[in-house]
Amino acid sequence: MSNTDFVLSIEDLTVSFDGFKAVDNLTMYIDKNELRVVIGPNGAGKTTVLDLICGKTKSTSGSIKFMNKELTKLSEHEIVREGVGRKFQTPSIYENLSVYQNLEVSYPKGRGVFGSLTFKRTAEVEAQVRKVAEEIMLSDLLDLEAALLSHGQKQWLEIGMLLMQDPELLMLDEPVAGMSAKERDQTAELLNKICNNRSVLVIEHDMEFVKKIAHKVTVLHQGKILAEGSMDKVQEDEKVIEVYLGH
Ligand code: ADP
Ligand code: MG
Repeated sequence: MSNTDFVLSIEDLTVSFDGFKAVDNLTMYIDKNELRVVIGPNGAGKTTVLDLICGKTKSTSGSIKFMNKELTKLSEHEIVREGVGRKFQTPSIYENLSVYQNLEVSYPKGRGVFGSLTFKRTAEVEAQVRKVAEEIMLSDLLDLEAALLSHGQKQWLEIGMLLMQDPELLMLDEPVAGMSAKERDQTAELLNKICNNRSVLVIEHDMEFVKKIAHKVTVLHQGKILAEGSMDKVQEDEKVIEVYLGH
């Protein structure tokens, strides 16, 4: 395939676990600055798609191109360096470090124009910490031990830790699970902001939340795309109502 403007091009992607195809010949494209939500019943293959993109699971066949670079041959570590950030369902923050320190340690090592000039690097890191803290609504809690944050704030902190690396593609698996209604609304605002300069791929079940954030929705069922398009279009789709929304 020739080069495209898509940030992510997934083509004919399949992964087979002992003959069971968890992802079955999937083709999907994500634009620059697009916020895509993937929905579908349990076991549809949603998490597996993220595992394939971030290199945690190796595909059986097919292609995943990120800014025209093939990812299926790269290690997890290399994929992060290419600019793909992924948040898992359970937050992995450092509970005994402060909010500030959690963000600070997430700044990519060996990056920055100033190389080994330590004092310049420190200023660069600090500026990035403050910018990200503002985005994730934790500016007033920088000195607080992360263990003392609410469940929702811990989720935001982990998103912040990914934002420290300024990824071109950010992937979130069920980011509002366990959050209060207010935290869900705030998370929707947060995601609507951060997709202004990157693409975001979210897996989520909460339809009220999906409505607030999705540019486009992809409905996955048995490893295949059942429907794709605007939230309104997908919601009216007979097949989608039958296998997912009707329940
Ligand atoms: P979803 O996130 O949509 O609920 P998953 O992607 O977690 O679904 O799982 C899709 C299917 O693939 C499930 O039947 C699951 O048991 C299976 N599966 C996922 N990962 C593995 C694995 N590493 N080995 C074997 N089966 C797996
Ligand atoms: Mg899942």
